[in-house]
Amino acid sequence: MAFDYDPENIFAKILRGEIPNSTVFENEHALAFRDIAPQAKVHVLVIPKGSYVSLDDFAANASAAEQAGFFAAVAEVCRSEGVEEGFRAIANTRAHGVQDVPHFHMHILGGEPLGRMLPPRSQN
Ligand code: AMP
Repeated sequence: MAFDYDPENIFAKILRGEIPNSTVFENEHALAFRDIAPQAKVHVLVIPKGSYVSLDDFAANASAAEQAGFFAAVAEVCRSEGVEEGFRAIANTRAHGVQDVPHFHMHILGGEPLGRMLPPRSQN
């Protein structure tokens, strides 16, 4: 599958420093910042610095160093945000996953009980 990256997406602009963000952590390959519209007490987005559209694009095409750097950032966010009692990691993807920003990002949500991930299918 080909992954077409739009360099005008809002997270690309954040990475270029064109719009501000509330940075939590940064390393060579990843940036973590607070979601502008938090859906839990802790709501941090972790993004790779490379141009990847989605989790499957990143998993298929990012180098081992980029993948390691990304997950090192995830680990640091979990440590520094104090989510020892648990958290949820979400990567909304394309239309069915309702992905709004077409630059791969992982939501880290926690700091309070989050409830079940989705209602049972019979209630949809
Ligand atoms: P998704 O629907 O998974 O693509 O999530 C995109 C997320 O990006 C949403 O939770 C938004 O609140 C968040 N968001 C959009 N613009 C910004 C921004 N400028 N800074 C921080 N978070 C943002």
